[in-house]
Amino acid sequence: MPEVRKDPVIGRWVIISSERGKRPTSFRTSEPSVVEGEFCPLCPGNEDKTPPEVYAIRPNGSEPNTSGWTLRVVPNKFPALVIEGSLNKRGEGMYDKMNGIGAHEVIIETPCHGISLSQLTVKEFENVLWAFRERIIDLRKDKRFRYVLIFKNHGAEAGASLAHSHSQLIALPILPKRVMEEMEGAKKYYQYKERCVYCDIVHQELEDKDRLVVENADFIGIAPFASRSPFELWIIPKKHNSCFIETSPEEFTSLASIFKDILNRLYSSLEDPPYNFTLHTSPFNETINDYYHWHFEIIPKLSKIAGFEIGSGFYINPTPPEDAAAFLRGAKYEITASEEITGVQLKNNNPSKS
Ligand SMILES: [Zn+2]
Ligand SMILES: [Zn+2]
Repeated sequence: MPEVRKDPVIGRWVIISSERGKRPTSFRTSEPSVVEGEFCPLCPGNEDKTPPEVYAIRPNGSEPNTSGWTLRVVPNKFPALVIEGSLNKRGEGMYDKMNGIGAHEVIIETPCHGISLSQLTVKEFENVLWAFRERIIDLRKDKRFRYVLIFKNHGAEAGASLAHSHSQLIALPILPKRVMEEMEGAKKYYQYKERCVYCDIVHQELEDKDRLVVENADFIGIAPFASRSPFELWIIPKKHNSCFIETSPEEFTSLASIFKDILNRLYSSLEDPPYNFTLHTSPFNETINDYYHWHFEIIPKLSKIAGFEIGSGFYINPTPPEDAAAFLRGAKYEITASEEITGVQLKNNNPSKS
């Protein structure tokens, strides 16, 4: 059973996950890599190679855990936290810890091996966002959990270990420090100005326009003022909303369209960079409020975190967000992939099956 331990000085929680166990020598391998052509457990036909699905979109009503799906959510086969058991919060001398209870799931975004999230149609992309919503709604019923973190690792350098396009979620028994800091910062701003800081950011960025990459009826995509790294991007709803799951169906369509646009701009202008994105939304115990405002943060992996960043929590960003935004505003891409790929025969990257 993994353990969650608290740093006694700064209060940061760490998952000590021996299950995912690596022997000391196994860290000394070279660059991470995703090997193409290997057996893919996420491809249609290999449903029995993953734990049973917890959510799926099956347009023709096929049986669970068979092929015929367009999106599938399954528990991670090698979870960082485990679902069974009690938290058993306890002390060990001066230290605090608890059992590593949580949910770790994989959202398989498409049955097509070899196409990336940005290549999905807007409708398919929207389904991914709906899946995020459905899973949050389901997991927050579990009283042990306080937060669900949705994230994606795209590309081996960003931490993806499988080539098949997927995102992940981890439901946590504690509020991550990063989330807590954001909530507290937003709350302080609200107490001082009686306005939501993100609503103010939306107004400011629409006025300045230097850091605005794209805009549609419901969302803006910006390079944030204090971007930590080159081409960091945020997608923020224009209308105040503290909680992702409260988003309306129309807004989901709008979000899928701007998200896809942004990923396409990154893809075409930076040659498919590795990236991570995370969904930032209110924790379960304060879902609806006036001070927090949900959003997505996308961070391309173009620079390495080094000693200074580790030691200081300070980032050195060599690309001003104003330049990044201008560059991405001018990005050109063809909208060929989406509609064409949907009709294409599903490519199963499983040599043993072809
Ligand atoms: Zn696959
Ligand atoms: Zn707001």
